[in-house]
Amino acid sequence: MAARRLVVLDRDGVINEDSGEFIKSVAEWRPIRGSLEAIAALNGAGFRVAVITNQSGVGRGLFTEQTLGAIHERMSAAVRATGGELAAVYYCPHRPDEGCECRKPKTALFRRLERDLGQSLAGTPLIGDRLSDIEAADAVGARAILVRTGTGAATERLLGNRAVEVFDDLAAATRSLLAEIG
Ligand SMILES: [Mg+2]
Ligand SMILES: [Zn+2]
Repeated sequence: MAARRLVVLDRDGVINEDSGEFIKSVAEWRPIRGSLEAIAALNGAGFRVAVITNQSGVGRGLFTEQTLGAIHERMSAAVRATGGELAAVYYCPHRPDEGCECRKPKTALFRRLERDLGQSLAGTPLIGDRLSDIEAADAVGARAILVRTGTGAATERLLGNRAVEVFDDLAAATRSLLAEIG
């Protein structure tokens, strides 16, 4: 059976506005203009859309996993209200110093997604705004795409010689992906 089309998204700075102070409540979760419509457009073209996000604010005690669950329910509801659907939302709750295997650029959540969806992430577009997203994509053989929203504009200056596709935002990246498949 052929693998279904799949796109993996980072959350903060890609789907919703990032904050240097962490997104600690449902009220602080605000979608980036055009991001929800982009997810719906990907779904409409036959892509499943999954989200993998580092949420160390949990490990730092800034918000609970229950609150994070409520934020993700808000996000999923906002996507549904726009006509789309998220196939999976996985998060790492740990602090960087905990040395876990799931905080990007580590790949445990990506491997879990492969198992849960029953398909490899090799060549799958992985859209993020940080070097950790790009490094995780490289580690699993995914196709790294950087957006300039969130911390992406600063990340772009750190790319050096890396061959990474860069777009202004998720909407622009989506238009390019959809143009590829015609
Ligand atoms: Mg991010
Ligand atoms: Zn973790």
